[in-house]
Amino acid sequence: MKYMNILFATSEVVPFAKTGGLGDVCGALPEAFAKAGHHVKVFIPKFQAAQKYFQQMQKLDVQQGIEVNGTTFELTAYSIKHKKLSLEYVFIANNFLFDRPELYMDSSTRQDYTDNDDRFIFFNKAVLETTKEILFKPDIAHAHDWQAALIPAYLKLNYKHDPFFENCKTILTIHNLAFHGMFPNKSFSKLGLPSDLFYPTSPFEFYGKVNFLKASIIYADKITTVSQTYAKEIQTEEFGCGLDGVLKNRSEDIFGILNGVDYTVWSPTRDSEISHTFRKQNLSGKKINKVDLLNHANLPVRDKTPLIGIISRLSDQKGFDLIEEIADDLFKLDLQLVLLGTGDKKYHKLFSALEEKYPDKCKAFLTFDNALAHKIEAGSDVFLMPSKYEPCGLNQMYSLKYGTVPIVRKVGGLADSVENYNFETGHGTGFVFESYDSKELLKTIQNAVNLFHDRRKWVKLMKQSMTEDFSLNKSAEKYLQLFESLISNSYEKTI
Ligand code: ADP
Repeated sequence: MKYMNILFATSEVVPFAKTGGLGDVCGALPEAFAKAGHHVKVFIPKFQAAQKYFQQMQKLDVQQGIEVNGTTFELTAYSIKHKKLSLEYVFIANNFLFDRPELYMDSSTRQDYTDNDDRFIFFNKAVLETTKEILFKPDIAHAHDWQAALIPAYLKLNYKHDPFFENCKTILTIHNLAFHGMFPNKSFSKLGLPSDLFYPTSPFEFYGKVNFLKASIIYADKITTVSQTYAKEIQTEEFGCGLDGVLKNRSEDIFGILNGVDYTVWSPTRDSEISHTFRKQNLSGKKINKVDLLNHANLPVRDKTPLIGIISRLSDQKGFDLIEEIADDLFKLDLQLVLLGTGDKKYHKLFSALEEKYPDKCKAFLTFDNALAHKIEAGSDVFLMPSKYEPCGLNQMYSLKYGTVPIVRKVGGLADSVENYNFETGHGTGFVFESYDSKELLKTIQNAVNLFHDRRKWVKLMKQSMTEDFSLNKSAEKYLQLFESLISNSYEKTI
C-alpha cells in the first residue's frame, strides 16, 4: 500500500482550539491516520486559544501576502511536529485576524465576528499557499465544516491547472450542517473568483447570499458526515437546513462515518482529570467521583438518588426547550442535576432560575471547563441529551464508557450509538425516546429513575454500556478506506 499525503484543514483541534465535538474529532483523527503510516499535516488558524503552545511553535519559512478583498494580509506559519509520527500541525498566523479571545464570536455580545468571511477566506487561501511553500503535495485534501470548506472549491477553480495539486482528491466532512458560513452577497468579491461565477442557483449562491458550505458540497469529490443516520437525514427537508436539494444531487457521493472516541483521553480507567479512576469490574471509584462532584456542586450527597449530568453548548439544537417545558415535573422526581454549558442567554437564564428554585437538586456551571466535563462524565449516573438534531454527538459515547447511562433522542448519531433498554430482556445501553416531545422525555427520565432503584439491574445496564466500543480508530479506518478507493478510482458505496 502506498502511504498518502493527507492535508487536513480545520478550525478546531484539541488541545489547541475547541468549542465542541469538532475539536475532539479533529484532534484525534489525524493521529490515527499518521499511526496507520500516512503523512499528515493539520492546518489550523493560530488562535489565541493555543497561547500555551506558542513557545513550542517553530516558525516556518513561509512569508507572503494573501489578498482578501483588495487588502493584503501578511501570512506567517508555525509548526509543531509530533515526536514519533509523520504528523505536523501547521498554524496559519495573522495576528489581526486570529489573535482574539474567541474563535468565532465576540463573547460579550455573543455575535459572530463581523469579519469572519475575511478571516476564513484568508485561512483557506493560506492553507493552499502554505502547503505549496513547504512542498507538501497532498494526495487528499480533507476539509472540515464551513471554516475549511473553500479548499475543495479553490482547488477546482483556482488551482485546476496547477501541477502541484494534480491528482489531489478533496473530501468535505460536515460535522454540523446548521453552520453554513453564510455572508452577504458582497462577500463574493472577497473570494477573488470571477464575478460571473455568482448568479442565482450558482454554487456559491444561496437565497441571494454567499454560502461557503454549499459551494463545497458541489465542488468536493466526496462528502462525509459524522453518522450514517445523519447522512440520510440531511437529505430531507426536516434536517437539510435548506441544502437538502443540493445534498440529494450528490447522494451517491455522501458517506456517513460515525465519529469515535479517543479513549486515551476519555476513559474512566486512565482519565487524568478525575480523582478516582474506575473500571467495569470495580465501580467503587465511580461512587467517590459522584460524591466529589456533588460536593463541588454544593449539592447534598444522596447516594440513593440518581444524578443526571448535562455537558453541552446551550443552543436550540440540544433540546433545552423540552427541559424547560417539564422542569417543574422533572424536579418533583427523586433526582439531582448538574449542568455544564455556555451559549444562548435564554438558557443561561433558565438554568440559573432552576438552580435558584431547586437549590438541593440543581446546579448549573455556566462556563466552559474541560476538567469539569470529565468530572461530570465520571460522577453522574445518567447523561441527558434530548437533542432536536444531532449529527453524531460525542458525550453520549463518552457516557457509555463511564457507565453514565445516556438518555437520548433517537436522532442522528444518537440513534446510531445508543440502544434502547429493554425492560423485559434487560438488553440495551441507554434510554432512547423518539418524538421531540417533552412528555415523552419526562416519561423516559421517569423510567430511568425507576430502574436506578433496582440496583442489580442498573449495574448490569452500566456494565453493558461500558462494554461498548466506539474507538476513533474504527472511524479512521473508514476514512482511509474512502481516501484509498478515491485515489484508485475504485470506490464502492459500501460504507
Ligand atoms: P457539539 O459538537 O454539537 O457541541 P458533541 O457532543 O459532539 O457536541 O461534542 C461536545 C464536546 O464539547 C464534548 O467533548 C463536550 O465535553 C465538550 N463541551 C461542550 N460544552 C462544554 C463546556 N461548557 N465545557 C467543557 N466542555 C464542553
